[in-house]
Amino acid sequence: MKPKNNRPPRRQPQRTCVVCHTTSDKRALVRIVRPAAGQVQIDERGKLPGRGAYLCHQASCWQTALGTPVLQRALNTQFSEAERSLLEHYATQIVVNNKTTVENTR
Ligand SMILES: [Zn+2]
Repeated sequence: MKPKNNRPPRRQPQRTCVVCHTTSDKRALVRIVRPAAGQVQIDERGKLPGRGAYLCHQASCWQTALGTPVLQRALNTQFSEAERSLLEHYATQIVVNNKTTVENTR
């Protein structure tokens, strides 16, 4: 007898938030990419080449991502001031959006 529910069928690629390690649908997470050349940026379509890391939409994860080396480590980089302010700006937008669509996953 095999347990049937060991893994969901792969329709959407699953990604993991680098801070809280929540696994989620690719679209539910924000991809941050560090291209081989140039600035770290938010990759909303998930298609830019480069080293990517994912963050979920929780404000606390963005705070941790910006306040600790965890995201920089995931991207194998150190944020410049411009990159940091880009991410901070994006984080504030996410927090605003998050308030309108409250989702409880637990
Ligand atoms: Zn998270």
